[in-house]
Amino acid sequence: VAKTTRTGVRVYQPDDDRNSPRRLAMVADLREAIQRHDLVVVFQPKLETATGIVRGAEALARWHHPAHGFVPPDEFIPLAETSGLIRPLTLHVLEVALRRCASWRRMGHDMHVAVNLSPNSLQEADLPDIVARLLGQAGVPASALTLEITESSIMDDPAGSLVTLDRLHALGVKLAIDDFGTGYSSLGRLRELPIHEMKIDKSFVQRIAVDHRDRAVVRSAVQLGHALDLEVVAEGVEDEQTLNHLRLEGCNLVQGYFISKPLPADEFADWLAARVP
Ligand code: C2E
Ligand code: CA
Ligand code: CA
Ligand code: CA
Repeated sequence: VAKTTRTGVRVYQPDDDRNSPRRLAMVADLREAIQRHDLVVVFQPKLETATGIVRGAEALARWHHPAHGFVPPDEFIPLAETSGLIRPLTLHVLEVALRRCASWRRMGHDMHVAVNLSPNSLQEADLPDIVARLLGQAGVPASALTLEITESSIMDDPAGSLVTLDRLHALGVKLAIDDFGTGYSSLGRLRELPIHEMKIDKSFVQRIAVDHRDRAVVRSAVQLGHALDLEVVAEGVEDEQTLNHLRLEGCNLVQGYFISKPLPADEFADWLAARVP
C-alpha cells in the first residue's frame, strides 16, 4: 500500500475496491487513530492582505500511519466519509482547533479558527448543538469559529443544509464557502446562504501573476464576493507577485505557502509570537 517516491517519502497509495482487505485494514487503522487521538491537527495562518495582520488560522488534519507513513488528507478524508468515520474525525479536529484557539486568545491574539466540514456533516441535525457545546467547553466565542463548507456539499441537499447553516449562523458561527469556483453553485443560491466568507480555490489563484485569464477570473470572484458583502480569501498564495496582485484586486485575506505552510500547533504558536510581539 505504501510506495516510496523519488524523494524517499513513503506515500499511501489509495485502493479503489471498497471491500478489499487492504481498504478495510486502512479503515480499521483510521478508526483506531481517531479513537487514540493520533490524528494531528496543523494550522495555517490567514492574513489580512492590506495590513499583514494575522486574523486566524485554518485547522487541517494530518495522519501519520505507523506502517505506511504519511497519508494525505485527500486520501483519508474520503475514506472517513465512506466508512462512517467522518463524524468522529470532524469532532476531534473541532475540539483540538477550539482548544488551540482558546490558548492563542489567552495569549492576547484576537484570532479565529477555521475548521473544514464534510458534505454529510450538514445532514446531521445535531451538529449545531454539538458545536455550541464544544465552543462552551473551550471558552471560545462563536464568532471566533469559521466552518468551511464546499459549494457542492450545499448543492447535494440545498433545503436540508440550509436548516443546519441557519442554525449555525444563529449561534454566531461564521460560515465560509470553500474551493469557490470548482463546484457549481447558482449565483441565486449563493445570495440566499448565511455565509460570511468566500475562499477562491487555489487552482485559480496560483497562476494570476503569469496568466491574465486567471487574473480576470479572480478579479470577477472578488467583485462577486464583495457585491454579496462577503470577505474574500485567496488560498494557495505561493509567491510575492501573487500576493501583490491579490492586494491590487482588493482580496481581503490570503493564505498560502508564501506566508506559511500549515504548522503543528506548538510551531504555530511560536510563529504567531514572533510575528505579533
Ligand atoms: P482545503 O480545505 O482546500 O485546504 C487547503 C489545502 O491547500 C490544504 O491541503 C493546504 O495544506 C493546501 N495549501 C495551503 N497553502 C498552499 C499553497 O500555497 N500551495 C499549495 N499547493 N497548497 C496549499 P491539505 O492539508 O492536504 O488538505 C487537503 C484537503 O483535505 C482540504 O482542502 C480539505 O478539503 C481536506 N481536509 C483537510 N483536513 C480536513 C478536516 O479536518 N476535515 C475535513 N472534512 N476535510 C479536511
Ligand atoms: Ca478549507
Ligand atoms: Ca479550499
Ligand atoms: Ca481544496
